[in-house]
Amino acid sequence: MTKTITICRPNGFCAGVERAIKIVDLALEAYGAPIYVNHEIVHNQHVVDDLASKGAVFVDDLNDVPMGAKLIYSAHGVSPEVREKATTRGLEEIDATCPLVTKVHLEAIRFAKKGYHIFLIGHANHVEVIGTYGEVPDHITIVEPVDGPQLQAQIQALPQPEGEKTIYLTQTTLNVDDCMTVVKALKHRFPNLESPPKDDICYATSNRQNAVKAVAPHVDYFIVVGSPTSSNSRRLVEVARSLGCNADLIPSAAEMDSIDLKQVQHIGITAGASTPDILVQGIIHKLKQAGFSEVKESEFVEENMSFSLPKDFRSDLATRGIPV
Ligand code: SF4
Repeated sequence: MTKTITICRPNGFCAGVERAIKIVDLALEAYGAPIYVNHEIVHNQHVVDDLASKGAVFVDDLNDVPMGAKLIYSAHGVSPEVREKATTRGLEEIDATCPLVTKVHLEAIRFAKKGYHIFLIGHANHVEVIGTYGEVPDHITIVEPVDGPQLQAQIQALPQPEGEKTIYLTQTTLNVDDCMTVVKALKHRFPNLESPPKDDICYATSNRQNAVKAVAPHVDYFIVVGSPTSSNSRRLVEVARSLGCNADLIPSAAEMDSIDLKQVQHIGITAGASTPDILVQGIIHKLKQAGFSEVKESEFVEENMSFSLPKDFRSDLATRGIPV
């Protein structure tokens, strides 16, 4: 029987990741190395190593950035505390925060001003959640997207917020189904809980998860190409497994040797929103060498989203004659 590979579409880079990487590349071209970046610009080691080789310096502590240097904020966003520290050190910020993350920050600020208490569903130790929480910490309670008895225990232990008005917001890269389970449990405990005006889980996260859902019933193994630090990549593994399909997160072809594919006939492949296509192609190449001779594509939806660069940055590039 022919061994097949089914590639999920869309997979890989989203508009926010493309924009963030482009900002670092253009900053290096405009200002020269080194260019400092707060945190990994996106959660993919290959991308980080590539930009580091061109002169980007990734830091997790602004004390490591020389006074007055240029500093890029990663796609995940930062809290006001980080911005204040950057100002104190005289750093010139270039903001590569994904506009869809900024949207959640602005929602948090807006609803806090209106007197809401916000339940922010997300992973408390993820940089995106740390940034959103930091906008209005006195008005936010973080709710972890866990399931089963753990979820019930967590919801029961939540303190009753002062005032009547409550709303939930979410991290942009959650598992859509798990998030809905948390929302249902929250609404059971707080019947007046309001929903955000528009979903916070972003288009790229839900499209990649839906593409996996369409393919998983037809394959016996799923490879999700992505770094272990990538939240949306890990969620894709969960989605495939939740449909009964074996699935693994594999950063690149170099990490495939331990996988036993002898019993596998049909493989599905996808990639997180921060994974470059070159890594996906490397894995497909290796699968072909292992006898997976037929390659098919399964397109859930066509994506054509793009985000413009920050206005000030664009203007500065224009004065330097650098096309964007
Ligand atoms: S995954 Fe979504 S929120 Fe995150 S950078 Fe991409 S588009 Fe933006």
